[in-house]
Amino acid sequence: MYNHRNPLPPLARAGHIAHVKHALASLPGSQVNLDASRMAIVFYCVGSLDLLGVLQDETTEIDRTSWRRWIWEQYAGGRYGTGFKPGPFMTKTSVHSDQESPHLIMTYTALLSLSILRDDFSRLNRPGVLTFVRACQNPNGSFSSMPNNGGDSDLRNLYCAFCICSLLGDWSCIDVERAIAFVASCRTYEGGYGQLPSCEAHGGTTYLALASLRLAPPGPRARLTPAERARSENWLVHNQDASGGFRGRTGKASDTCYCFWGGAALQILGAEDKLDAYAFAQFIAACQFPFGGIAKAPGQGPDPYHTYLSLAAVAMYAPRLEASARRYGQWEFTPFDPLLNARVETVRWAREHIPARRF
Ligand SMILES: [Zn+2]
Repeated sequence: MYNHRNPLPPLARAGHIAHVKHALASLPGSQVNLDASRMAIVFYCVGSLDLLGVLQDETTEIDRTSWRRWIWEQYAGGRYGTGFKPGPFMTKTSVHSDQESPHLIMTYTALLSLSILRDDFSRLNRPGVLTFVRACQNPNGSFSSMPNNGGDSDLRNLYCAFCICSLLGDWSCIDVERAIAFVASCRTYEGGYGQLPSCEAHGGTTYLALASLRLAPPGPRARLTPAERARSENWLVHNQDASGGFRGRTGKASDTCYCFWGGAALQILGAEDKLDAYAFAQFIAACQFPFGGIAKAPGQGPDPYHTYLSLAAVAMYAPRLEASARRYGQWEFTPFDPLLNARVETVRWAREHIPARRF
């Protein structure tokens, strides 16, 4: 089925554009079950349009202004600094009974979404964001999603804290050494990383760990030894199975989101040539839903999360496809940054427009 002599099916761009535009339009109102991650869904939708290079053509200035306004409406502050909430109806927790707290993952996705929408970041309180990130770090070096040990504490939050520090160009607010020691404690004998110490290695958290180590300011603790690097590479390569897709854990089925996590982790290690890019693209093409959007596996229903990560995965590996196959299938993308998980141009906009540090 995934024979290299088969032509690569076209990337159904028009259908994917329609899928994420529909998700953006239907977000307000009824989808209460998605409320806790609404900010992240906005990122997957506007991010998909950004990857496809159609944001200006497929949306109006009124759309983009209203999305920017909605994101800024989730910007909240308090004694633990300022950041972005997941959405307007977030449940208050007992830990933060006096305020609706910003959330680390949502702050990272909000900053990238605002950059995609070419916001000027004039409303961003830089010291407030740094105070918030600091308040999310725990004594063992890990990060919680909310200040003062609130919410989940795992590698997702640490990665988002590192992305925010990288985008703001300021690491002074956190204890980088202890954070890196926490990342190291999540490493497993297989060469992958678990969500927490002693957890099973997982494709998603392995990406988060390797990206965090590369984002960190240069230092001996952030470097893998050649033997560690080889073991990680080997574990990741063996997660690409006969379907061309990637599985998240040993023995599981392939899933398009793990194509991103595994594929990006190999790019970070500089081992992208170890991945079979043609089979990889074939698997993602087979997960395209006939009416638009991309699913986690062939025959399943699509969602913005798998659509975005699939497009990001092919954006990274399209340059490794033969030029004729790329052109024929419309698999053409602009450069992608595997560390920040956004287009290079979008990351550049954020770095240039987020208010600069004052000395
Ligand atoms: Zn998935």
